[in-house]
Amino acid sequence: MLYVACEGESTEPDYLEYLNEQFGDGDGEGRQPFRIQPVPRGDGRTPSGIVEAARKAAGEDEAWALFDRDQWNDIPQAIKAAAEFRIELAFSHPSFDLWLLLHFQAFGGAQSGSSKLVVEKLRQAKGADAFKDYDKKSDKSIKGARRDALKKRESKAVNHARSLVASCSHGLCKPGHAKTEPVDNDAEPQSPQEWAARSGHDPGCPVLHRDPSTDVWRLLATLGIVGRKSD
Ligand SMILES: [Zn+2]
Repeated sequence: MLYVACEGESTEPDYLEYLNEQFGDGDGEGRQPFRIQPVPRGDGRTPSGIVEAARKAAGEDEAWALFDRDQWNDIPQAIKAAAEFRIELAFSHPSFDLWLLLHFQAFGGAQSGSSKLVVEKLRQAKGADAFKDYDKKSDKSIKGARRDALKKRESKAVNHARSLVASCSHGLCKPGHAKTEPVDNDAEPQSPQEWAARSGHDPGCPVLHRDPSTDVWRLLATLGIVGRKSD
């Protein structure tokens, strides 16, 4: 059981339910069953509120905080709290929508926090017909045909996300440095920089400069949905 707190009210919880449904029973070949409990964000709409919601809900269990670059500016505080309480981070820059897009195509180029181009590309991507109306009439759900469209594309998405780490403008970031084993609660305390480097980005790579990037792939690797292979 792991607890994942997120900002979105439909996209991320829908996606987490999809992971439960598609992969949660294990595969009978070594991949363990899991159950993700999406945590409603409550009043915590900021990244640090999301980290706090994850901490409260999870107790001693594994906890993740999913949040976007968007317009929020308390990300440094969120990372500090996550490091202190060993809450895994799955940060997306500019947004979680990038993770969806990477199921269909590679993507590159700094977006300065705007998700507009990412959403446009997603609507037009080959194989993503179900996303044609994504984010129109406020429909950002991932159900039915959208869910089906993501199926069997997770390895592709992970590879695309990993290559964004490799091509990060900082220059020292390497997907093979990412941590995908469960958090060791007995390990030495880590600085916020070290904690944010579990993504494979260098400890010296400022989180807000990881543009574009998404760490959601690491959740899938930790759950064994895709291999934990390193470069
Ligand atoms: Zn980086």
